[in-house]
Amino acid sequence: MESAYSLRSQVLAFTLVLVVGALLATFTTLLKRSDDTLRYLVDTRMEGALTSVSHMLRQREAGLLSQISARVADPQLQQAISAGDLVAAERTLAALAQDAALNPESGTSSDHLPEPLLFVVAGDDVLFSNHPEVTAGNTLPLVETLGEDLQSTGFLPLGPHLYHTVVRPLGPENPATWVGMGYRLSAVDFRTLLSDPLYSVTLSGQRDGQLSPWLSTLPDAGHALEAIHAPSQPQSLLRLPLVRTQRYISRPVGEGTGAVSVIVSQDLSGVYDGYEQMRHQVLLLATLFILLTIMGGFLIARRLTRPVSQLTQTLRDIAQARFTVPAIRTTSAEVLHLLQAFRLMSTRLSEREERIVYHATHDSLTGAMNRDAVTELIEDMVASDTPFLLIGVQIAGLKSINENLGLEAGDACLRQFADRLRDNSNQDFLARQSADELALIIPLGDDTREQTQERIIHAVTGRLSKPMQVNDIGINPDFYTAVISYPKQAEDARQMWRRFSIALEHAISRNQRVYVYEEGLDQAHIRKTRILRDLKQVLSDNDGQLKLYYQPKMDLSSGQITKAEALIRWHHPELGFIPPDYFIELAEQTGLIRQVTRWVVSQVLRDHSKFLARSLSLQLSVNISASDLADTGLKKHIHSEVVEHKAKPSDICLEITERDMMTDVDRSVELLNDYRRYGFHLAIDDYGVGYSALSKLSVMPVDELKIDKSFILQLIQQRQDQVIVKSTIAMAHELGMKVVAEGVEDEDAMNWLADRGCDFVQGYYLSRALPVDELIEWCQVFAQHYAPLGEGEGEGEGDTD
Ligand code: C2E
Ligand code: CA
Ligand code: CA
Repeated sequence: MESAYSLRSQVLAFTLVLVVGALLATFTTLLKRSDDTLRYLVDTRMEGALTSVSHMLRQREAGLLSQISARVADPQLQQAISAGDLVAAERTLAALAQDAALNPESGTSSDHLPEPLLFVVAGDDVLFSNHPEVTAGNTLPLVETLGEDLQSTGFLPLGPHLYHTVVRPLGPENPATWVGMGYRLSAVDFRTLLSDPLYSVTLSGQRDGQLSPWLSTLPDAGHALEAIHAPSQPQSLLRLPLVRTQRYISRPVGEGTGAVSVIVSQDLSGVYDGYEQMRHQVLLLATLFILLTIMGGFLIARRLTRPVSQLTQTLRDIAQARFTVPAIRTTSAEVLHLLQAFRLMSTRLSEREERIVYHATHDSLTGAMNRDAVTELIEDMVASDTPFLLIGVQIAGLKSINENLGLEAGDACLRQFADRLRDNSNQDFLARQSADELALIIPLGDDTREQTQERIIHAVTGRLSKPMQVNDIGINPDFYTAVISYPKQAEDARQMWRRFSIALEHAISRNQRVYVYEEGLDQAHIRKTRILRDLKQVLSDNDGQLKLYYQPKMDLSSGQITKAEALIRWHHPELGFIPPDYFIELAEQTGLIRQVTRWVVSQVLRDHSKFLARSLSLQLSVNISASDLADTGLKKHIHSEVVEHKAKPSDICLEITERDMMTDVDRSVELLNDYRRYGFHLAIDDYGVGYSALSKLSVMPVDELKIDKSFILQLIQQRQDQVIVKSTIAMAHELGMKVVAEGVEDEDAMNWLADRGCDFVQGYYLSRALPVDELIEWCQVFAQHYAPLGEGEGEGEGDTD
């Protein structure tokens, strides 16, 4: 990644470097100039002081020299020394000294001038002196240091005092003998000389191996010591540390080669104090400026960069779909424009997101939520434990409206349904499940009583049922409704949807306008689904699970078994025996019945051959349903099976229930005629429960009418049944049909039926439905017991028909 520094620190660093640089340059220039000026000043003034001290010393020495020259020339002294009369010499010298004290010519202050020091030395040895500490036999090393110039001057330390001394050789007669003279020096001599208190004179020399002051114009020894050790140049103003450690600068007068040197010192404090104070002030100011710069820079940088970082945060928020742009305080026009652009962008984005979310969760035609959105809603309501009703509506005629009136009409119809559903209350939620399915979710609040739910359902279906105008055409809305409630009938969204669709399917299959989910429907549905799945498998595997049983029908006129009805049996390996009316109904609902019927037909014809092989010529009847009637290929299938098994079409009878036959009479007549043309026998099954009109029955091209067993089972006990059966037999005969009574369970019923001219009986009295082999056996037994009786009568009656 590219390394990046924040704008804030860059601005800050730049300002800081600029200000510190400028200050540093100004500061050093200022100090350098001041330092130069000061140095110059100190130098010139020092030179002045040095000159005057040196001048004064020269003058004193000149005075001393002239005095000593006069004394040395004294003939008495010369004579006494030459003669070796030291006592006389000493006396003469003492007189001379007294004289010198009275008439000074040395240039030193004369008021308190003490008696001068006088001495005579031969070689290094003192011959005599007027000083008590300088006695004969002493060595005066000073003489040596005075040099060879024969007129040397110098400083002679004696005890605690220092003497400004001059020596001269006595004369050509006594070349090794010297006469010396000196005055005791005191600080006062110099103090008068240097009126400026900043300057001081100190005489110093080696004492006890250390450089120490002999005398000084300075007030105390400490200062004097500091002065003699001071350097010759002042400390620079441009230095660190700032504290000044140096008070004086000192320089020697002259060469300073002797044992004692004269040092002039200058007290710097007065000169430098002002400048150093100024330097401190400047430094303080500079620090202040730098601090101000840092603070100011920081503030400006912050003001400059704050909106930028706030905008950055705002962008992050927008990325997280939070579309509020905060109020940002700024004085920058550019930032203000940027902010406005941000606001605009944010509003647009939020609108767009809203639209996207809306389209992702809603159906654009009806404005209803889509399945995902409504599932989420249900999950939320389940999570918050809110009781609600889910009312689903399947619009039945939508497909035909689309086909006949156009898609726009279909859309309009759907919209009207949606509007009518939504009409309920603001709190309801409408969803579009699929093309023709809408669902309404109605929160129940605290009132979850069943009456309330019923009232709601009634109100909704009432609104939906009202006639509708679609493209100026009035239509009666056709729909199915399924209702399920939370938390009573489902635990969660998944279960709810599943049970709901089972309920709706149930409503449709039962042709029921409203179906409220019932406990166990779910389980029943699971069982149903499994049975259907297994049935499909069994049909394709043909593994022997399905079997055909045959129930014989006896011809009452002959007493012979001439017909049998094929009844299907299914022993499920796990579920056990499954009643045929149960799975047949399921198969009818799903269309699987066509495969069942084809299987039955094939099996029936195989079995027909088996019966024939055992000399049993039976007409076998097959039950077919309304859905089979519509199966245009079924006729050919039966026919080809008949041909294949070398049977006659009249060996096959097709039983169709009265109900199936009468739903669409014209179509049934047409279809049945087709079967008739093939030569198959046709029978109306379960006659009497369908309440069909006689006029309709009369047009049906059928050979046989089977009176429903509900009229036969209690025939002897029920007078009403007898009336119905009697008249039905008469009517059927009138229409040219044979009559079969099924459900004959006892001999009385059979006899009663025989007496009333019924043609055939079928029922438990004769036999239950049996497997082929058992039926063959049964027939043989039956023939042995009843045939003789039946044969004659049967043929007789058969002829009368
Ligand atoms: P169904 O066509 O009315 O058949 C007659 C039913 O009455 C049979 O029941 C039979 O066992 C029963 N039954 C016969 N005699 C008596 C009697 O004396 N007393 C009593 N109580 N019942 C008697 P099953 O075999 O259980 O069949 C029930 C229904 O299942 C049939 O009614 C038929 O509608 C349907 N079904 C059976 N097999 C087939 C088939 O192969 N194809 C089609 N489409 N339907 C079938
Ligand atoms: Ca039947
Ligand atoms: Ca029947």
